Amino acid sequence: MSDLEAPLVRPKRKKVWVDYFVQFRWIIVIFVVLPISFTLYFLTYLGDVRSDWKSYKQRQKEHEENVKKVVKRLQERNPSKDGRVCTARKPWIAVGMRNVDYKRARHFEVDLSAFRNILEINQETMIAKCEPLVNMGRITRATVPLNLALAAVAELDDLTVGGLINGYGIEGSSHLYGLFSDTVVAYEIVLAGGKVVRATKDNEYSDLFYAIPWSQGTLGLLVSAEIKLIPIKEYMKLTYTPVRGSVKELGKAYIDSFAPRFGEENSEEVPDFVEGMIYNPHEGVCMTGKYASKEEAEKKGNKINSVGWWFKPWFYQHAQTALTKGEFVEYIPTREYYHRHTRCLYWEGKLILPFGDQWWFRFLLGWMMPPKVSLLKATQGEAIRNYYHEMHVIQDMLVPLYKVPDALEWVDREMEVYPLWLCPHRLYKLPYKTMVYPEPGFEEHCRQGDTPYAQMYTDVGVYYAPGPVLRGEVFDGVDAVRRMESWLIENHGFQPQYAVSELNEKNFWRMFDAGLYEQCRNKYGAVGTFMSVYYKCKKGKKTEKEVQEAEQAQVEVPYAETD
Ligand SMILES: Cc1cc2nc3c(=O)[nH]c(=O)nc-3n(C[C@H](O)[C@H](O)[C@H](O)COP(=O)(O)OP(=O)(O)OC[C@H]3O[C@@H](n4cnc5c(N)ncnc54)[C@H](O)[C@@H]3O)c2cc1C
Repeated sequence: MSDLEAPLVRPKRKKVWVDYFVQFRWIIVIFVVLPISFTLYFLTYLGDVRSDWKSYKQRQKEHEENVKKVVKRLQERNPSKDGRVCTARKPWIAVGMRNVDYKRARHFEVDLSAFRNILEINQETMIAKCEPLVNMGRITRATVPLNLALAAVAELDDLTVGGLINGYGIEGSSHLYGLFSDTVVAYEIVLAGGKVVRATKDNEYSDLFYAIPWSQGTLGLLVSAEIKLIPIKEYMKLTYTPVRGSVKELGKAYIDSFAPRFGEENSEEVPDFVEGMIYNPHEGVCMTGKYASKEEAEKKGNKINSVGWWFKPWFYQHAQTALTKGEFVEYIPTREYYHRHTRCLYWEGKLILPFGDQWWFRFLLGWMMPPKVSLLKATQGEAIRNYYHEMHVIQDMLVPLYKVPDALEWVDREMEVYPLWLCPHRLYKLPYKTMVYPEPGFEEHCRQGDTPYAQMYTDVGVYYAPGPVLRGEVFDGVDAVRRMESWLIENHGFQPQYAVSELNEKNFWRMFDAGLYEQCRNKYGAVGTFMSVYYKCKKGKKTEKEVQEAEQAQVEVPYAETD
């Protein structure tokens, strides 16, 4: 029997006070977090409406004034005294799960909070120009009534354009359009010296253009982005297909559910949207969506399901019904489809509010959902945060599509987290080797989903309490993440950096390619002004000594992989 097949035996664990706190956290959530979240959502909405009243010209004028303020602030910095530059966004406001320890050590903040306007939606060029704090909820509210959408709209309403570009952004349409950053045509960046540049893929800043994604704001401050729009229709025709078998067979069924074979990329069969949900080691549901017109959806016999209403069953549970009733098709209003996982935060909502999915809760209080991730983070102290690092998993494994069955088998054995989210995305072969890049020579294998210009990957989203924790057994979350990272490095996979990372610097640069990043850090003066990406991602409090070391350090190129 191979190591991977041998069952893991884990002893029972004694409960500590944090277990009880986490178990009864719902009391704080219901009486404190939900009402404040709802108020904040409402106030943000009013702010958005106010912004929408302004003409594009007025917004652009304000934008230019705000950019000048950023330049001035950067120039005020005294390099010998002030720390390295980062945005002033409070660590708890960001959706990501890292501790953002760099903000607890000496640093120099630049406030970008005014950058929250949609500067233009141009229906002729099919480009939306957005400031970095425009979030997904806002952008779909503006574009969907025009039958337009960003090519990749991340699901959670609160995710921002700036975070999805500099961090990581994916959506069920990424098998066609790539990651969020692949849909951007131009970045407006304030460089370390205060110069404002517009980087596109074919101008003099093309190297910077390709280096920005995944750089975490360590090359410059993003002040606007021009993003591709696509035409859409009013409804998503969604087919839910149950799949059964061994965990590896589930992976294979997911691949077959959408991936064209080599050369078939224009096939009518390729869906507009894809996602898979694996509910346990033997069952999953694959979903494929096609945009559909109002006329088609309203035809007699078709079922329309407005999943966005507060009293509706949570989406992942609704999808799960395909396991009992068999394959079915329904039409979901497009904007509600985009944000289908928002109300229950994928399935994390079930842990936060164990009865939140019950009909009585949904009808009475469901309209206040979801709790803002930022407030959940703000109401947890260090002990709870550490508990979550050890007893909970929020990680994504980006793996080549053909390795999904192996990845599922690995997660089943090492973490036992269910449900799992599967979302495919293209990884393009670009003119530069960027931080994340396809497997060298992938084009020669003609694997399912691949094209000569992109390798098909999949995000295996691992979010929930692992099986051993739910059964009261010992589980070492830190070690499990460490092993997951090794597995990813061995299998040409990547770990999005919004999640907690246990990688040391050497392994970080084995996972990601440093070549272009390092070149741009030097060329555009970021070294000495901005923190390095590893320093930002590294877990743990930073002492003043470490801050000083980081200030002296540069990315160590020998770690970078070369072809
Ligand atoms: C519950 C949950 C659900 C999620 N769902 C999704 C999902 O559906 N799809 C998806 O793609 N991802 C998802 N994520 C992950 C998410 O993509 C990341 O957190 C992402 O980085 C965006 O978060 P944010 O908008 O809060 O950005 P932030 O965390 O604020 O920013 C991310 C990084 O970009 C930098 N940055 C941001 N703006 C700028 C700027 N203007 N200039 C320079 N640097 C900047 C920040 O400093 C930071 O390093 C989810 C995460 C969680 C916890």
